[in-house]
Amino acid sequence: METADNNDLCPLCKKNSITAKYHPFCSARCADVDLGRWLKGNYVLPGEKAYILKADET
Ligand SMILES: [Zn+2]
Repeated sequence: METADNNDLCPLCKKNSITAKYHPFCSARCADVDLGRWLKGNYVLPGEKAYILKADET
């Protein structure tokens, strides 16, 4: 279920409102950028501690 917040902004660019088609992003571009980060396998921001998801954590 989607929550009806007032600030339904794209989590990536934080400028455009979310489009249902590309939820939770505003456009295919933002969705693609986010996907690209994950595919690279290093969703880690420089200067921050390693953020690793445990794959087998259920
Ligand atoms: Zn966006």
